[in-house]
Amino acid sequence: MIKAIYGTKDIFSPEVFKWQQIEQLVRNVFKNFNYQEIRTPIFEETSLFKRGIGDSTDIVGKEMYTFTDKGGTSLTLKPEMTAAVVRAYIEHNFYKQSTLDKFYYISPMFRQERPQAGRLRQFHQFGAEALGVKSPELDAEMIYVAYYILKSFNLKNLAVKINSLGKNKEREIFKNELKQYLSSKLNLLSEDSKKRFETNVLRIFDSKDPNDIEIMQNAPNLLEYIDEESRKHFEQVQKLLNLLNVPFEIDHKLVRGLDYYTETTFEITSSSVGSQSALCGGGRYDGLVSQLGGPEIPGVGFAAGIERILLAIENEKSYEFSIPCLDYYIVRLDNNLIDKVYYYTTLLRNKNYTVDCDYSNRSVKAQMREANKANANYVIFIGGEEFTNGQCSIKNMKTGEQKLIPLDEIQYL
Ligand code: AMP
Repeated sequence: MIKAIYGTKDIFSPEVFKWQQIEQLVRNVFKNFNYQEIRTPIFEETSLFKRGIGDSTDIVGKEMYTFTDKGGTSLTLKPEMTAAVVRAYIEHNFYKQSTLDKFYYISPMFRQERPQAGRLRQFHQFGAEALGVKSPELDAEMIYVAYYILKSFNLKNLAVKINSLGKNKEREIFKNELKQYLSSKLNLLSEDSKKRFETNVLRIFDSKDPNDIEIMQNAPNLLEYIDEESRKHFEQVQKLLNLLNVPFEIDHKLVRGLDYYTETTFEITSSSVGSQSALCGGGRYDGLVSQLGGPEIPGVGFAAGIERILLAIENEKSYEFSIPCLDYYIVRLDNNLIDKVYYYTTLLRNKNYTVDCDYSNRSVKAQMREANKANANYVIFIGGEEFTNGQCSIKNMKTGEQKLIPLDEIQYL
């Protein structure tokens, strides 16, 4: 038997209703914030992600689904959205037409990670990117909108962590200091961190190895290296978050796994989802547009994982998703009335009601079971003496009340 690929999931009823409601809420919130949806292809040229995300990152180094198509081009299923949005932004000259573009997306992403609770190989993110203006208000807006969406599901055990990575120049100085600090401790670091020491020393802050964590406790603090302008920017972000009542903590170790971040970075974690605790993450990426061949244009964004949000909601039992019910179920009392039943079913469907009927000649009892299972608000009975008299019964399934109406009135329901 052919099965779904390891680390991927089929999503169907009733689970799919939760997805629809999350997606609908996300769309509504972004509409209020005036973000426009962007949809980019599922695959891109591999070089986009290599250049955009960085060769030394786990995503590019180990996790991409890369293949060569029949034309010999190396393609990659998108592992994240920022590089793809920036590619589209440059390709379609958005920056020539407006000073600020605010995009949002909901999309599957692909990373060949080791699957576990909250970690899949095809997973789904919603997120946003704002390109064109460097303003701390936009940084705060990203954090706020992500926090607001999570709070809409009444999630309680959230922690908002923020940091500033400053600009490239200061970060390079800091990296040297960090290397100096670590050079005498190199043989104590994990194998992964030893590699990171060479490729991207900042990422050692991300290590989950307890030994590495202890060593990094006394590492120099990046926030002490950022310049005056970055400091002011970061302070304004904090001021706005306070104003908007977003509780946050500053975590100077929050460097995030992707190379393109500058200045503000942030993450929202939940203590309700186990080891994969990050529900969302993001930050500013002022060098990315030029790095991908566009002009010097700043950007900021975030991405949130839908599977993990669902896991947090489930574990906290914080939100009741509604399960849609049928408005009408039409029960056929006589088998020879199948066409009539189908006619009235379609009539009500065309009036924008959710309606169903039996398709397999089942008994009245079986049809009623189906109506109950589908949580129908009303059942209409077609057949018997009533039908001969040009009437039908309609039963309110919540109250049990039943009445006779002329068949002609079905069209006015
Ligand atoms: P990132 O793009 O790595 O910053 O991730 C942003 C968010 O996407 C994370 O906080 C998670 O909620 C989600 N995410 C990332 N990788 C996975 C994965 N393999 N499976 C499920 N969700 C993920």
